[in-house]
Amino acid sequence: EAVLYVVATPIGNLADMTARAIEVLQTVSLIAAEDTRHSARLMAHFNIKTPMISVHDHNERQRIEQIVERLSAGESVALISDAGTPLISDPGFVLVRAVREAGFRVVPVPGCSALVTALCAAGLPSDRFVFEGFLPAKSLARRQRLDALAHEERTLIFYESTHRILASLEDMQTCFGPERMVVAARELTKTFETVKGAPVAELLEWMRADANQQKGEFVVLVQGAPARSDDVVNLEAVRVLDVLLEELP
Ligand code: SAM
Repeated sequence: EAVLYVVATPIGNLADMTARAIEVLQTVSLIAAEDTRHSARLMAHFNIKTPMISVHDHNERQRIEQIVERLSAGESVALISDAGTPLISDPGFVLVRAVREAGFRVVPVPGCSALVTALCAAGLPSDRFVFEGFLPAKSLARRQRLDALAHEERTLIFYESTHRILASLEDMQTCFGPERMVVAARELTKTFETVKGAPVAELLEWMRADANQQKGEFVVLVQGAPARSDDVVNLEAVRVLDVLLEELP
């Protein structure tokens, strides 16, 4: 049976590659990679000689036809991205939907994702969380998105690049207030891995003081807004009731 495997690869430390991922990548007929030159290093390291084609945001739709053809010919294909789990702030969703619609099985081969990796070391509530991916690049749009999330009670998780880490934290300070607890998880699984949590004003000060702390890849996690306590809700209910009672004849 020909299937599309969606294969997670490491987010930095090559030792995080799973045994199953290596086996699948070695045995499929074709690997669809986000950036074939980038993935060539991974392939060389694990002695994977399977042919690769590129699938990125700009050619995903054209590639679908080719991949469905390969599947129809009975050949299995694997999808990988530059790092971590495909489809998570990476291409793949359109391909997976099309392959399923064409009647083929899609088999996930799980592994790393930066968001889960960061969450399990951040020390923030992990029972309910919201993954927001990348914030908009422009400040106005970014603040609008953050304003819309200001009362969210679940832990918020964002991806951020070195270019915008300070600007994003500054906007978080504006929209969530200086006291909101924020955790910056930098360079996870790599040499300079740092997980630093503090009220956002303090975190910003700490990061501004050391340019090295602004470098690399980031997951930014934000503690959810405090839950509205039952007392507040009850007080409001009593107030509404009082108003209604006055209106009664
Ligand atoms: N598909 C990937 C995943 O499953 O996590 C995410 C790809 S997205 C294009 C790249 C972003 O993920 C980076 O800008 C950063 O926010 C985050 N990221 C990836 N690797 C990371 C790492 N080692 N440490 C911290 N953040 C990382």
